[in-house]
This record gives sequence, structure tokens and C-alpha cells, in this order.
Amino acid sequence: MTKVRLRIRNSGLCWAKAHHTMKRAPRKDIRFYATWAEITHPDRGTILFDTGYTSRFHKATSRFPNSIYARMTPVEIDKSEEAHSQVKSEDVRHILLSHLHADHVGGLRDFPNAQCWTSEDCKQEFANLPVWRGFTKGLLHDLMPEDWLSTCNTFESCPAFLHPQLGQGWNVFGDGSIVMFSFPGHASGQHGALVQTENHGPVLLAADAIWNLKALTEGRTPHPIVRLFFDDWSAYHQTLDKLRSFHKAHSDVPILGTHCPTTYSWVADKSHS
Ligand SMILES: [Zn+2]
Repeated sequence: MTKVRLRIRNSGLCWAKAHHTMKRAPRKDIRFYATWAEITHPDRGTILFDTGYTSRFHKATSRFPNSIYARMTPVEIDKSEEAHSQVKSEDVRHILLSHLHADHVGGLRDFPNAQCWTSEDCKQEFANLPVWRGFTKGLLHDLMPEDWLSTCNTFESCPAFLHPQLGQGWNVFGDGSIVMFSFPGHASGQHGALVQTENHGPVLLAADAIWNLKALTEGRTPHPIVRLFFDDWSAYHQTLDKLRSFHKAHSDVPILGTHCPTTYSWVADKSHS
């Protein structure tokens, strides 16, 4: 099985209410970092898993109705933190999008040479949703390149891969290095990636299937108020069950949620680079 190198990076943050993101958390505002991963494949070059925020978020949400999105999730992003300031644009060959929310697709336009990948359901939702209603599903059409829908590949076009706990997956490069698994609930078509790394062993990038690892280990799931912004609350809980059984079987495999403090600790920790 081919192994890759993994590095967790961050581009911007939004402010969230701690007690909404996790049961029994204090009633205070917390930073919700927008982490993403740089993956170096020995043959396929640099691959990104999500891209974090860019300052284009502010422009894309400057007018009604998208301004509602900006009001609900106040975003802070410094130009120097954007993905293209951290990874050379011409080096990036592939971008794997877990889902299409603004904190995951923000940098997409800065990597015009990369082949983009996402799920069929993500593409379907994007294609079906009128632009003016995009914000209701966390989608900002202005963040996507004009030809994105016709040029983006789907995970489902890759060879299938069956995992005992995670079920049906998609073996992106056919070498087992990165396998995408469906983690629906938070957003339609959301996928995570099981990555075989040479520097950390296997790592599960869970995107927004968990906001905090304690959702799996202590049952501290988000407050039901967030279901307003979720695609499918019961699918979300089924995904959590799937991740719990994965964690039980592979307790040594890190499960990194995009906004989990543990994931953010990997950004600064040199031993994780
Ligand atoms: Zn997110």
C-alpha cells in the first residue's frame, strides 16, 4: 500500500458558541478553526484535503441574502494564512473536497491547475440549488470556479473499497493511500478520508462529521439547535455510530475533525509536520 506524508494546516476561523458545538460546554464564544490537510503522494504530487477560508468569503457574503451567512458565522481570515500562501499553487495536483461549505472550498480558485474531486451528492446539490438560496445550505457559488461543475471528478468514479467499520469507500488513486468514505448528515454528500501516512500511520480525516473528538468518546455531541444548519440529523447520528465503531476497533488511529481542537494542535506542533 502506498504511503503519503500528511501535514495539517489552517486558514482562518469563525466564531461559534461553545455550548452549541458540544453538550455541557460553557456558554462562551470559541474559535472554530478551518483546518485542512496537505498530502504529499510519492507519484501524484501534492494533494489538498479541503482548503480553508479565503478573504473571498467577505466579498461573497457582502450582500443580502448571503450576508446572513456572514452574520451567523463571523469569519476572520488573514491573507497570509490562505492556502495558496502556505502551499505553492503550481505544486497542487489534486484537491479533495469533503463537502462544499465555505470553510472547506474557500481556496479553490487559487489552484487552477489542480483536479478537483468531490462526491456525486455534493455536485448534485450544487447543481440543483438556485444561487440565491445557496447560503441556506452553506454554499456560496461565487467561491467556485465557473467551470467547476463540469470539470470536478467524483469519488464514486474511483475503484470501490470495502472497510469493516466504515463500509463502502472510494480508493481515489487505486493504491489504498487515500480512501474516501461517506459521512452524511452535517452536509449532503460529505466524505472523509482514510489516509495511510508514513509519518503518523493511518489517519482518518473526518471533516465536519465530528466537531470535537468528545462527540465519540464522551457522547458530547452538538446541541440540537445546530440541526437547523445540518442536512440530515438522523444521518448525522448514524455517521457518529460508524465513527464510534471505527474508533473502538482502531483506538490508535487519529480521527481529525476539521474544527476539533486536537486537529488544530497538529498545526502548530512541529512533530506533526
Ligand atoms: Zn466546516
